[in-house]
Formats: sequence, structure tokens, C-alpha cells
Amino acid sequence: MLIEYGSGAIMSVPAHDQRDFEFARKYDIPVMQVICHEDEVRDVTCNETDNEAMDTAYTGDGVMVNSGPFNGLHNRKEGIARVIDHLKKNGIGEGTVNYRLRDWGISRQRYWGAPIPVVFCDKCGPVRVPDDQLPVILPTDIKFAESGKSPIATMDSFINTSCPKCGGDAKRETDTMDTFMCSSWYFNRYTSPRCETALADKQDVDYWAPVDQYVGGIEHAVLHLLYARFFTKFLKDIGAVSVAEPFSRLLTQGMVVKDGAKMSKSKGNVVPLDKMCEKYGADATRLFILFAAPPERDLEWDDSGIEGASRFLNRLHRFVTGSLALIKKGDTENIAPLDGLPKELASIRRATHKTIVRVNNDFNRFQFNTVIAAIMELLNGVTALKFDDSVNSASVLREAVETMLKVLQPISPHVTGELWEMTGHATDLLDEPWPREDETCLVEDEALIVVQVNGKLRGKITVPVDASKDFVQNAALDDLKVKKFIEGKEIRKVIVVPGKLVNIVV
Ligand SMILES: [Zn+2]
Repeated sequence: MLIEYGSGAIMSVPAHDQRDFEFARKYDIPVMQVICHEDEVRDVTCNETDNEAMDTAYTGDGVMVNSGPFNGLHNRKEGIARVIDHLKKNGIGEGTVNYRLRDWGISRQRYWGAPIPVVFCDKCGPVRVPDDQLPVILPTDIKFAESGKSPIATMDSFINTSCPKCGGDAKRETDTMDTFMCSSWYFNRYTSPRCETALADKQDVDYWAPVDQYVGGIEHAVLHLLYARFFTKFLKDIGAVSVAEPFSRLLTQGMVVKDGAKMSKSKGNVVPLDKMCEKYGADATRLFILFAAPPERDLEWDDSGIEGASRFLNRLHRFVTGSLALIKKGDTENIAPLDGLPKELASIRRATHKTIVRVNNDFNRFQFNTVIAAIMELLNGVTALKFDDSVNSASVLREAVETMLKVLQPISPHVTGELWEMTGHATDLLDEPWPREDETCLVEDEALIVVQVNGKLRGKITVPVDASKDFVQNAALDDLKVKKFIEGKEIRKVIVVPGKLVNIVV
């Protein structure tokens, strides 16, 4: 009897493995069923088996039969633990975990790849290239033949070398390593590219690692993540890095879908972006792609979306260039607090700082589409207002415009950089610090109150946040929609929950 956990079957005997079953039938080996489908159990202690009745192996889970003390147990739920117990008690075995690790053939018959540092000597056999002769460098004077073979496989100047052990003639290995051999750890190298003595300077790699954000398509993620984790654990064991995991966060981006199929060169349904850039510019193209969908979702390509992206940037450009004189008059350093501004200007300031909070939050979550939506809303708010030529007006407008340019910069860098320059800045927008929200500008001055009549929603009113209970109650009773439900009735009670709701009982 073979007990096996890794592949799922607790016992692999002829009754429970199709190949063993066929083998047993051919050579008249008795087939004893030890796991039975729950619905087919007749007598768990019966030693007779359905030898003749079985025509295929039973590979599912079920109830243990013909199994002595284990009869009647579910093979998985209790069986495994009980069998291990039994083996332990009798000193004939113990439980273990089998990892299904497989050997990994890392050699590839191609030029691009890290050379395998081994030479072959007739006398010594395969000999490793000693550390002081590493790295083995690929030749660059290669010729790509049409044979499909790696060009170094026929390159005598690379192949012929001497044996590091006996000094005699030897030949270099011409296979190179699988690209995963490099891609599984290269990110550590970025932390100290000039380090000559190790794969990365320990201090540097400890400072930067692990990688904060991994972005990849799911088709690459599985294998690369597995190999990179494996390498990282090995590098930790040898003390080259201190982290046990290579990546902190994973984003698997969606695919671009066109006409119901994944956009790919092989399918021939690729939209040439350079044509789009030529017609609408790189800024509009980038904005369009980021606005179309959250990055983890598939993006259904729709050419008409680029028009909308282009219109938005044009609207921003027109508005800013049309308001330059006023914007330049603004002073964002000495801008008035909310309570020192007329209502409309205060609401623009509030919207500006709310936008900063929103885009920071959305950038951090990689939700670029809602970042763009927030900027669009702010532009709508700004363009809807008629600014006069007061300093307050100019400053609020300047703050809103500069905020829009700064937070849109990562998405549409060219147009924002140009507008930044036009608004009178000598510095590059790229060098500007990221905008910070002013907490005092986030305070709401109005609250939305739900009005109920006998517990049912009948209206909504907007009141100043510091309104008294009486003020809120009167506003609720005066609301036209609410009036319809209370007219001609005796008001028995009014409950006011400040900032939230009014319930009128009639
Ligand atoms: Zn040798």
C-alpha cells in the first residue's frame, strides 16, 4: 500500500489509480477498494470487494472501507490524521509534507542570456569557471546565421579556452541561462548599480528592498513571482538581502480588448498609437488610455474616447490661456482663508483642496481614471464661475489652476508644463513640490439634512453646518416637498439630529 498526500489520494492502490487499475486487470492482480463514494457504501467492514463490478478506478474522495480501524471515516476529513496517528503509535511512519518541486532546466540554446560558467575538458570533464575569472562575457562580434542556432555555438574564438584545472585545451559551454535567472533578482541591482564586489551593496539593498510595487500582466506574474520569491529566499539565506519577500504590492493590469479579442500583434488588431499621437498628441493619448478604465480591469478599446480626452485638454488650454492676465495677478502665498472670501470663491477653494485629497488617494490606489474625473470636475467648477478682477478672485483662480496643472502633470506632462510656463513661472513644473491640502479649506460650511415624515424620506435640505436646531427644524417644515406630507395635519413631534436628519411625526 502506498500512502501519498501530495497528489491528493490518500491511498494509491489499483482501485484508486486508473493506470494501476488497468495494470492490475491485465495481470490479474486483486483490486481492493478502500475508498468508496459516500452514496455507495454498503458495508464498510466487508472484506469482499467489488472486484468484478469495477470497470474504472475510483479517484474521488469518500468513505474509507476495507480499512480496519479506519472504516467509515471520511478519507480526507478524518482519515489522513487518523492514519498518521496510527503509523506514529506503531513506530512505522510519520506525517510529512511533500512539496511538488520540480527540476528546472535553465539552459537555453540562444545567444541572449547569461553564459553558463562551465568549460569542458577532455581530462577533467566539466569544470566550473573559478570566481576570479567571472563573469564570462558574451562575445559581441557575433554573426546571426540563418540556421536558427545560437551564434556562439559555432564561434571558435569563444568556445576554445583552457581548462582552469589542468591548463589543457577545453571548450566553453555555449548554452546560456534562462532569462528568469536574471529577472528573478535584477531589481536588487538597481539599488547599487556601481557595486563591484557583490550583487548589490547590502546597505543600499536593505534601504530600498522590498520593491514597493510590482506591475505585471497575469500571464507573466505567475512564473516570475514564483521564481523571484524563490531567489529572494535563497538570497536571504546567504545573507545578500534581508527581506524574505521581493515585492510588497502586486498590481496585475488588465488587457486591452478590441472587438472582443485581446489586442495583440499576432491577432493583428493593434491600434497604432503613433497615429493617434500624431493626430491628438501624446498628452491626449495618455489621458485617454488612463481615463478609459481602472488599470486592473480589461480596457475595451473605443476610438471615440480619444476625442473626449482631446476636448478636455483643449478646454483646459483655452480656459488658462484666456485667463492669463487674471491668473498672473493672483497671489497664492497670501490667499484669504475660507471665511474671508465670498461664498463662490470659498467653494472653489474648498473644491481645489478636496481635489488634492481625492487625487492623492486615487493615485495611491492606482485609480488614474478617477484622478482625471476629479480634475475634470474642478475645471467644470472653475469655468462655471465668473471671476471678477479682485485680488481674491485672482488668487483663488490661480490656486485652482496651478493645482490642476500639478496633479495632471504625471498624466499629461507636455500641455501642463507649457501652461505652467505661460502662467509666469520660470521654473519647470516637474521640479514643483506636489500640492498639499490645507485642512482649513476642507471644512464644509453646509450640511445636507435628510427630512423624514413618520420615518419615511420626504425631502432633503441644505443648511449651514453651524445652524441651530430651531433653524434646521424651521427649514425642514418650510421645505416644499415636505409640506405636501404635513399640510393639514397636526405635528405631534419633531426630532432633529444635528448634521444628519429631521423626523417629523404627524
Ligand atoms: Zn582539465
